[in-house]
Amino acid sequence: SLPTVAIIGRPNVGKSTLFNRLVGKKLALVDDQPGVTRDRREGEATLLGLDFRVIDTAGYEDLDAATLPGRMRQQTEAAVAQADVALFLIDSRAGIVPLDEEIARWLRASSTPVVIVANKAEGRAGETGVIEAMALGFGDPVQLSAEHGEGMADLFEGLLPYI
Ligand code: GDP
Ligand code: MG
Repeated sequence: SLPTVAIIGRPNVGKSTLFNRLVGKKLALVDDQPGVTRDRREGEATLLGLDFRVIDTAGYEDLDAATLPGRMRQQTEAAVAQADVALFLIDSRAGIVPLDEEIARWLRASSTPVVIVANKAEGRAGETGVIEAMALGFGDPVQLSAEHGEGMADLFEGLLPYI
């Protein structure tokens, strides 16, 4: 079976944009099970000839802010637990916020390898965020623009050791 990649990160960092770019027309299924997996999407991705299954975590955007961390944590942990590698997206333009640091703590406690990805890195607006992302402890981030398709070769190189 195909190796599995989970896309993790707080709302609005570009997870679904990356998922859509990786999966394209080959979206395999929309998971509508109840509970934490309700809004999880899975698909088969191809990246420069590398084939893998990808999980996009979502579904918490509409929830009450007070319940957000717990729900995100459940989704994140469920996806990461079944993945061979987690892509941890941050928004280079917004920089690192406390919720990114909280997610980084969960990911450090997991045995799943993590590749950190500084998304929205097109142009120069993301430089500060890229530097801030280094401090999260997952090494040099892959600089990506999921929206414009820049940095996909670097993403390939980041994933290659794990899948
Ligand atoms: P998610 O909540 O993490 O799934 O984020 P989305 O994929 O829904 O994207 C949130 C917003 O960021 C949308 O307006 C996207 O168009 C935008 N976005 C995603 N990727 C990029 C990128 O590489 N550069 C820029 N500038 N915007 C992006
Ligand atoms: Mg999304």
